[in-house]
Amino acid sequence: MDGIVLLIEDEDEIADLLRLVFEKEGFRLLHADSGEKGLDLLTQRSPRAVLLDLGLPGIDGMEVCRRIRASSDVPVIMLTARDDEIDKVVGLEIGADDYVTKPFSPREVVARVKAVLRRSEQQPEAPAAISIGEFEIDSGRRTVLTPDGGVVQPTAREFDLLWHLARNRGIVLSRGQLLEAVWGYDYFGESRTVDVHVRQLRRKLPDIPIETVWGVGYKMAR
Ligand code: CA
Repeated sequence: MDGIVLLIEDEDEIADLLRLVFEKEGFRLLHADSGEKGLDLLTQRSPRAVLLDLGLPGIDGMEVCRRIRASSDVPVIMLTARDDEIDKVVGLEIGADDYVTKPFSPREVVARVKAVLRRSEQQPEAPAAISIGEFEIDSGRRTVLTPDGGVVQPTAREFDLLWHLARNRGIVLSRGQLLEAVWGYDYFGESRTVDVHVRQLRRKLPDIPIETVWGVGYKMAR
């Protein structure tokens, strides 16, 4: 794989560390040490993915992510401080594709970037629709028609998760299986990403029957 990855991060040591690993893997790492510079580089250089630190001087990572999302679908991976649960959740709610918790292994960051790139380059499946009760999930429009005639537009990742659950309705899927199918990588230990996205789907579509199977994962009821 190759291409430009934009890192928006105010700590030079982290930038140096990541540059080394990314360049070894054939990527070009552009580094911006503030959100403002990062947003400028994003428009000038069209990177294939963005690594975005949450704690930045000036405009913070969340606001930077919002501004990126206002104009671009580029994959964004947030770099967050350790155990910063609230920030993680918010980071995902504002449209980031994934997050990595500091301190991280640079190789893990590379693996995440490769996973989001593989994911964003996959050919979309032939458009189809799946009915779940009176909901209709439309993979062409990537929307959900609700029983009362409304249209709900989940984020890209929420839709992929919903679609995968719907296609496997009645089957219990573990968090690991969902991560592999929807995010494209194996996960070690932590699995809040899936939970956060399920919570968001339930908030947007309260009556869609995504069931929690304790100790295992989730399933879409038939
Ligand atoms: Ca920072």
